[in-house]
Amino acid sequence: MNRVVGIHQFMSDKVWKWKLLEQKVAQVLSLHDYQEIRLSVLQDYGVIHEGITALMQEDEAAEAAEGIINLSQPNGDVSLLTLRPEGTISVLHHTAKIIKDRDVHRFYYMGPMFRKGKESIPSEFHQLGVEMLGSDSVISENEVISLGVKICQQLGLKDVKLQLNSFGCQDCRVQFFEDMRTYLKEHETELCAACFKKLYTNPFADTGCKDVQCAKAIGEGPKIMDYLCPNCRKNFSKVKKIQANLAHQYTVNPKLFKNFAYYNETVFDFVIQKNGGEQVIGGGGRYDYLSRMITGKNIPAVGFYLNMDSIFEVMDRRELFTPLGKDFSVYISTQSEDLEMMLLQIAQELHENNIKTLLSTEKHSITEDVALASKAKCELMLVIRDENVREGKILMRNLSKEHQDYIKLDGIIDAILLARKSLNKD
Ligand SMILES: [Zn+2]
Ligand SMILES: [Zn+2]
Repeated sequence: MNRVVGIHQFMSDKVWKWKLLEQKVAQVLSLHDYQEIRLSVLQDYGVIHEGITALMQEDEAAEAAEGIINLSQPNGDVSLLTLRPEGTISVLHHTAKIIKDRDVHRFYYMGPMFRKGKESIPSEFHQLGVEMLGSDSVISENEVISLGVKICQQLGLKDVKLQLNSFGCQDCRVQFFEDMRTYLKEHETELCAACFKKLYTNPFADTGCKDVQCAKAIGEGPKIMDYLCPNCRKNFSKVKKIQANLAHQYTVNPKLFKNFAYYNETVFDFVIQKNGGEQVIGGGGRYDYLSRMITGKNIPAVGFYLNMDSIFEVMDRRELFTPLGKDFSVYISTQSEDLEMMLLQIAQELHENNIKTLLSTEKHSITEDVALASKAKCELMLVIRDENVREGKILMRNLSKEHQDYIKLDGIIDAILLARKSLNKD
C-alpha cells in the first residue's frame, strides 16, 4: 500500500487561518463577479483522462495519465472513477452545456485535488482555480492575470511578481516546434535523456531538470518569441503594456514552460521571494483549443490556479494571519441537578440574543468554575444556586473586572447586555 502524502487534515488551531484565507480570496473574486462552483471530488476517469491528455503526443499522454488516481473496485476491476486532479476540465464540460453565443462566464472553485506524485505516491493538495470562459480578447486575459495579482496582494503577499511568456497560436508554433526538434537532434549529446525525450515530444514541457548543461543547451535553442506571428506578437505586447500600466511587476521569461499541452498565447506564473530566490505559487494561461477537443464546442478561455498550501505556508511563516476579535461569551454553571433545566433555558435565551455561551457540564466549586471560565476567556460567568433562585436572582461575575453582583431572574438578558456594553464588546 502506498503512503499518502500531503493529507489535508487541520485541527481547530489552524482552521481559523484557512477560513480567513478562503474568505479573503472569495471577497476579491466576488468583487470581480466570479461565481463559485463546487465540483464533485469524484470524477469520471474517462472524461478526466481525455481532458488531461488532449493535445498531447502519445508518450507524454501516457506519462500524464500515470498521475491520475484511478480508484479500484473491491473485486479488483478498474473503476470508472477518479479523485479530481484538477478542475478546468469539469468547468469546460459544465460551461459547454450552458453557454450561448457571446456569453462570458466567470467561475472559481477551491478545494482539495489529488494526484500521484513521485514513485506513484498519491497526494492531496489544495487549489484555487479561476476560469473565464467565452472570450478571446486581450482584456479578458488581463482581467484574469490582474485578478491573480490582486488576490496575492490582498493576502499580504506584496512581493508578488508576474512572469510572462507566449506559446503562440496554432499557426506560429508549428515552425517553432519543427526548429526545436531539429535543434534537439543536433544537440542530443548535450542533454540528459529525460530532457531530450520530454522536449522532443512537447517543446513547451517543463522538464524540471536541474542539470546546468541541460539548462545551457535549452537556453541556447530556439525561442518561441522569435516565431510569434504578427497577431500573437501584438497581443503579447498589449498584455505587457497593460500589466505595466497597472503597476504589476513582470518579467518576460522565455523559459516559462507548462506541462499541460493545451495552453496557447499568453502563459504566466505568479512568483514571490523565498530565501533569496523565487517561489512559484500559481500560474495559468489561455487555452482556446481545449474545449473544442473535449466538448466539441468552441469556447475560448483563460484561467489560473493558486497553490493554496504554498500560500498558507508562506502567510503563516510571514505572520500574515491576524486573529479575528474574540466573541463575547458567557460561562454558565449550576451546582444543583434540579436547576440544570434552568441553566439550559437561560442558555437558550442568550442564544436567541446572539450571545455565545459555554456551559459547565460537571459540578464544580466556584473556584474551579472561575478557573475554567477564565481559561476559555469568557467575559461573564453566571452561577445558578438554589438559595439565590429562591430569592429570584442569580450570581453574575464579571471575570475581566473581577467584580460580582446578583441579577434578577427576569432581567438576565438586560444585565448581560449592559455588562457587555461596559466591556465595549457591542
Ligand atoms: Zn500566432
Ligand atoms: Zn536534463
